[in-house]
Amino acid sequence: MKTIEQIAAELQGYDPQAISAERVNDFLARLVEPVGETETRPVFDALGRVLAADVVSPISVPPHDNSAMDGFAFDSAALRANEPLSLRVVGTAFAGKAWASPVGPGECLKIMTGAIMPAGLDTVVPLEFVKTEGDHIVVPHGVVSSGDNRRLLGEDLMAGQPALARGQTLGPAALGLIASLGLPGVQVFRRIRVAYFSTGDEILSLGEAPREGAVYDSNRYTVFGLLTRLGVDVIDMGVVPDEPARLEAAFRQAAAQADAIITSGGVSMGEADHTKAMMKQLGDVAFWRVAMRPGRPMAVGRITEAGKSALLFGLPGNPVAVMVTFLAFVRPALQRLMGGTARPPVLLQARSAEALRKKPGRTEYQRGIVQREPDGSLSVRTTGNQGSGVLRSMVEANGLIVLHHGQGSVAVGDAVDVMMFDGVV
Ligand code: AMP
Ligand code: MG
Repeated sequence: MKTIEQIAAELQGYDPQAISAERVNDFLARLVEPVGETETRPVFDALGRVLAADVVSPISVPPHDNSAMDGFAFDSAALRANEPLSLRVVGTAFAGKAWASPVGPGECLKIMTGAIMPAGLDTVVPLEFVKTEGDHIVVPHGVVSSGDNRRLLGEDLMAGQPALARGQTLGPAALGLIASLGLPGVQVFRRIRVAYFSTGDEILSLGEAPREGAVYDSNRYTVFGLLTRLGVDVIDMGVVPDEPARLEAAFRQAAAQADAIITSGGVSMGEADHTKAMMKQLGDVAFWRVAMRPGRPMAVGRITEAGKSALLFGLPGNPVAVMVTFLAFVRPALQRLMGGTARPPVLLQARSAEALRKKPGRTEYQRGIVQREPDGSLSVRTTGNQGSGVLRSMVEANGLIVLHHGQGSVAVGDAVDVMMFDGVV
């Protein structure tokens, strides 16, 4: 486990007072180590979990050549150029039952989708293509060629082939694939626990009466939602007032129970509060001014309690800044902690429907609404007021326009990158 000082020394040109968004992720990749513990879980319990070992297919899928259609199976050697083919139907092969008796020259077998292709037969003509005449069918010339409508043994996966790789997060398709291999369970990393609390004397919990100068806590709810969708166990520690004893107790309790701690508020420059002092006292923490908007101030490191340490993400207080810093930094870091293979989000390109003012030298995340234009191209407009306290803008947006560190102002019609929310937000 590396200290903040060691990581800082490894990163060229590291400046905590002006750290780029990209550098933040480099830093976190060095700070965060995947959890070691693994467990075997039944397939139904594995949704959203991260594979701890490659899954190698113990069987071939499908396990036998089979019909892809309801139709008639025959030997394509009988097909003649420019001539219809007449075949005698000798029986019916159903899915799940092997057809045992031989099918000779001039004969065919009615076959259902998924039924095993009997030996010697290689082609299926769909029911709707043939004419039935008594116990015979006539296959018109040109409707099928050799090998049509037959699924081959192992065409999905051959026995011994890797089906899924360690570090992959299991989604619905992966669950189905694992089940298709006949595997009742898989080895996954254990779930991680993330504790979070909001700080600030002006922050009201739900149920408290409004009072002058106070605002209701929204950060715990957005963080709860983001964490839950990420598939971690959450520990909600409420609102912690700006009192050293309460903060200390909260940090110690969180570090004892959780793998990571997320706080919001109390890390900006002008703060006359105790949050930063307590982080410094209880842990190994870097305090940054990130060259980004929204979300400049941020604290990152580890808090240690009774020999056990937890990662710390001290996020800014502004509601949009919390969500943006979570998406840009915390989410990839937690995925790494969960054992996941880093997969940077695929940014989509859209034409900006408006001019955007931007200074090179910081990354900006503007709330965007992407839509498809009548000509088929994608356009994006902003949600309007980009204030870092305007949480409504996150609800209206379907993605974040990412204006990269070196990028300058954008003219109408320029292509910009967008990080789509895709069910994450
Ligand atoms: P801070 O980073 O503590 O200076 O907070 C920046 C702004 O975010 C202030 O206007 C705070 O009132 C607001 N804020 C801080 N925490 C929360 C929270 N949990 N919910 C809503 N607003 C917050
Ligand atoms: Mg504050």
